[in-house]
Formats: sequence, structure tokens, C-alpha cells
Amino acid sequence: MVKPNTHLASSAAATTSKGFLVIEDLVKAYPTPNGGETVVLDGINLSIGEDEYISVIGHSGCGKSTLLKIVGGLERSTSGAVWLEDREIRKPGADRMMVFQHYSLLPWLTVRENIRLAVDEVLSHLSSANKQQVVNEHLAMVNLTEAANKYPDEISGGMKQRVGIARALAIRPKVLLMDEPFGALDALTRGKLQRQVLDIWENHRQAVMMITHDVDEALFMSDRIIMMTNGPHAKIGEILEVPFPHPRKIEDVRGSKEFFALRNHALNFLDHHFSQD
Ligand code: ADP
Repeated sequence: MVKPNTHLASSAAATTSKGFLVIEDLVKAYPTPNGGETVVLDGINLSIGEDEYISVIGHSGCGKSTLLKIVGGLERSTSGAVWLEDREIRKPGADRMMVFQHYSLLPWLTVRENIRLAVDEVLSHLSSANKQQVVNEHLAMVNLTEAANKYPDEISGGMKQRVGIARALAIRPKVLLMDEPFGALDALTRGKLQRQVLDIWENHRQAVMMITHDVDEALFMSDRIIMMTNGPHAKIGEILEVPFPHPRKIEDVRGSKEFFALRNHALNFLDHHFSQD
């Protein structure tokens, strides 16, 4: 008689995955000057798929950037944890790249050199020719081939943000973390760059977590909108599923009845949580 293989059964249980990117019972408190503490985030639970685009929306000060920084490994949680492919995030890593509202380019390097620096650092195993190819591909992806030899102070805000996005994508992170990436841009440039980033994502899907204040932007770009309650003790108030299929056309999305219903729902949520302040 064959004995049941208890060893195999227990190792299968041990390898059960939590999910791709998992935020579990996360609490973040900051000390106050009088020796107390403010609990900014209070019990965040969220699971994000490997090719899912999510937005995080909520009023200023509710803890959106703090949450993103914890996922990026730039801040530690007070309790709870974040897991990426079952590994706990404790520090920054090349598997998670951040794009900030303010471009954070090195002003003494050209557009090409800013991207190359990141590629040299992270993709050090590639030959010089392959690194060059990665840089060229990503310059082309954000339409910056012509501006490759310019310095940051010779290009517009929208172009700088495209360099930041190309730099983040060039090292092929598993998760792209964007903190109001279009927030500093004028409306026309913002619309163009949203379209460009969505095109890139639709062609090279990956996990994206994007903070925004803009309900339309969240509806146009993401698959789910994580709506935060006001802080302190901010939580996820509601998660809005965005049903528009990809590839998306902004005109079709904006023209649909569903868009207006979802938009009103999100705005009402934000109004309601604002009035509780
Ligand atoms: P949001 O991105 O939603 O505007 P933040 O995550 O930047 O919010 O900040 C959430 C709260 O945490 C704010 O009240 C802010 O003042 C506080 N906070 C953020 N960083 C720190 C810090 N390093 N020390 C103390 N308080 C902080």
C-alpha cells in the first residue's frame, strides 16, 4: 500500500502564494513633538495583480504618499507588512521604481545619460551595446529620441516627466509607483502624457500604483480606484472597479454614461469624506 505523501502535501501548503503585491494590515504612525503619535494609516489591506493599474485617491494629508513610499521601501510601516511575490518589502529595490511629481533628474546629465545611469546601475549584467539598445528603446517609447542629448533645463516639464517615466521603465521594474506624475503639468500636456503612459502600459502591462487627485485621470487610466478616507486613521473607504476595456480611447470613455455615473460616485465619496473633517 502506498502511504500518503505528507511531506509533499505540507510543502505544497507552504508554497501557497499570498498574491503578487499584497499590503497586509498596514499601520503607519508618526511621532508628534509632544511625545505622542499620529496614526496616519490604520489597517490597510490591498492586493494588486501583476498587470493591474490601480489609482489611489483621497484628500491631501490622508497618507497616499506615505503608503506609496512604504511600498517603495522608502518608509517602514509601524505594523503590518507589504509583500511582493511573497517577499516582505523592507527597503528600496530595482523591482519597484518610483516616478515623482517633481522630475528628480540630474541636471548635469543629458536626457540619454539620465536614463543610462539607471540602466548601468540596475542592468549591469548587460553588454554596453545592449544597455544602449535599452536606452534607445525607452527614449523612443516616450518620443524623446530627438531630445536625447539635451540637458533637463533645456526641455519642458512634460518632457522631463517623460524622461522620469522612461528611466523608471527602462530598468524593467515589476511595479511602477507614481506619485501624482502629471500633477505639475498644464492640462494639455497632462492629457497627452496620460495617453502616452496608457499606450505604453497597454502594450507592456505591469503592476502600476498611481496616486492622483484627479477623478477623471483615475477613471481614464486605472482598473480599480482605491478611495481613501480622511486621515488621521485613514483607511480604504471603498474600491471602485473601472469597467472600461483596454485599449481605451479617452473620447469613448469620457462620452459614456457609465463614466459620468462612476465620476459622480467618486466625487460624492470625496465630498462625504471631506465634510467629516
Ligand atoms: P498625502 O500624500 O495623502 O497628501 P502624506 O502621506 O504626504 O499624505 O501625509 C500623511 C500625513 O502624514 C500628513 O499629516 C503628514 O503631515 C504626515 N507625515 C508625512 N510624513 C511625515 C513624517 N516624516 N513625519 C511626520 N509626519 C509625517
